[in-house]
Amino acid sequence: MQNITRNNAKKKRKGRIVIISGPSGSGKTTLHERLLSCKKMKKVLVKSISATTRPPRKGEKNGRDYFFLSEKMFLYKKHAGHFLESERVFLYYYGTPNKNVQDHLKSGRNVLLCIDVKGAKTVWRKHPRTLKIFIKAPSLDVIQKRMKKRATESDKDLALRLSTARKELKEAKKYDYVIVNDELSRAAKELETVILKELLLKNN
Ligand code: ADP
Ligand code: 5GP
Repeated sequence: MQNITRNNAKKKRKGRIVIISGPSGSGKTTLHERLLSCKKMKKVLVKSISATTRPPRKGEKNGRDYFFLSEKMFLYKKHAGHFLESERVFLYYYGTPNKNVQDHLKSGRNVLLCIDVKGAKTVWRKHPRTLKIFIKAPSLDVIQKRMKKRATESDKDLALRLSTARKELKEAKKYDYVIVNDELSRAAKELETVILKELLLKNN
C-alpha cells in the first residue's frame, strides 16, 4: 500500500448555507430556535447572527439575537463591504455579516441564515449550493393573529408586515422546500428532517 496516496485526503469539505425565509410572523424564529436547541442539530449547523438597526424587543440580547447597531454604524459597515447581503426590511436595515459566514464555511461548518426573501436571493446567487427553505403560516389571518399575540409591533408596522407578506408568499416556489407551520411540533420535525437529509447527503 506504500505506493498509493489519496489526493486531497486532507482537504476539508466546505460547509453549506441553509436559508430559512418567509413572511414575518410565519414562525421562523420559533422554529429555528427549536431546531438549534437539539444537540444533534448543533453539531451540524451554526446560526449566523444578523446586524440590524431595529431596536431590541423585550428579552432580546445583543450578540445573541442580533447585533443591534445605530443607522450610522450600519451604513458605515455596509459601505465598507462588511455584509454578505443587506436589505431595508419594513422600517429598518438588516444584514448578514460576511466574515463569520465565510470562516464557518471554510472550516466545513454549515451556516443557518434566517433572512428576508430579497436578502435570500442575493445569497443564493453568490452561493448556488444554498439550501433554501420557505416557512409559511396556514394563512394571512393566522399570521395576523400570531403577530397581534406576539405584540412586538405597532399597528403601522404590523400593517406593513402583512402587506409585505402577501408579496413574499409569491416567492415560495423558488425555494427547495416549503414548510407550513400550522402545528408547531410537526413543522419543527419536518424542518429538522429536511435539513439533516440535505446536509448529510453526499455530493451536495
Ligand atoms: P417570525 O420569526 O417568522 O417573525 P415568530 O417565530 O416570531 O415568527 O412567530 C410569530 C408568533 O407566532 C410568535 O408569538 C410565536 O410564538 C407564534 N407561533 C410560531 N409558530 C406557531 C405555531 N405553530 N402555532 C402557534 N403560534 C406560533
Ligand atoms: P424581525 O424584525 O421580525 O426580527 O425581522 C424582520 C425580517 O427581517 C424577517 O423577515 C427576518 O427574517 C429578516 N431578517 C433578519 N435578519 C436579516 C438579515 O440579516 N438580512 C435580511 N435581508 N433580512 C433579515
